[in-house]
Amino acid sequence: MEAEDILQARLIDALDGPDCAICSLLQDQEGRFIDSLLYDLVNDAEVRGRIMSSLGFCDYHAWKINKHGDVFSSSIIYEGILNRLAEQLREIETGYLKIREFQEIPCPICQNLTASEGRYVMAFISNLSKENFYQIYINSFGLCLRHLRLFLHLCRDKKMRNRVLSVEVEKIESLLLDLKELHRKYDYRFSSQPVGKEADSWIRAVKKVNGVRR
Ligand SMILES: [Zn+2]
Ligand SMILES: [Zn+2]
Repeated sequence: MEAEDILQARLIDALDGPDCAICSLLQDQEGRFIDSLLYDLVNDAEVRGRIMSSLGFCDYHAWKINKHGDVFSSSIIYEGILNRLAEQLREIETGYLKIREFQEIPCPICQNLTASEGRYVMAFISNLSKENFYQIYINSFGLCLRHLRLFLHLCRDKKMRNRVLSVEVEKIESLLLDLKELHRKYDYRFSSQPVGKEADSWIRAVKKVNGVRR
């Protein structure tokens, strides 16, 4: 378990970035987890076993690993998965494995990230009562919808929930003004006007609603 002050420093660092801080931390963790998974794969039978039992990863993480272009690790992973899949299909054929038992098992990378997601949001909550942290949060991108929902679910302090809600509403209103301005400048009558801070508001809007894909 990560020491509280290290996690606080990482949160502050993430709040300084252009995305939802929780999404950023999860992205870092995803990268580290995939690297260690690929590294441990050859020597660690338990890691291989975990990947085989879920028949690999969700579609998103399978293609993310594929994009790593690690031919050696990928061939080891998929040789194992396909062997296991063929074995299970033979077991269904002979009636040894029931179709209802041939269920999708959650992706090990998603499982790892889901476990950390709650821990990151809890760290965010416990730091929020510190005024300097709260100010850093106010000046940040704020939370994406997914992590705002998780925050509301995990935060027991109504006053704190309302403080965050009013900050997020303000951020959404400011984003709406940027979107409106972008929209206005794309109108043919104003299309020659230079684009200012609203230029990337159409991307920030997606980040706000959908986060940064983890
Ligand atoms: Zn997020
Ligand atoms: Zn996944």
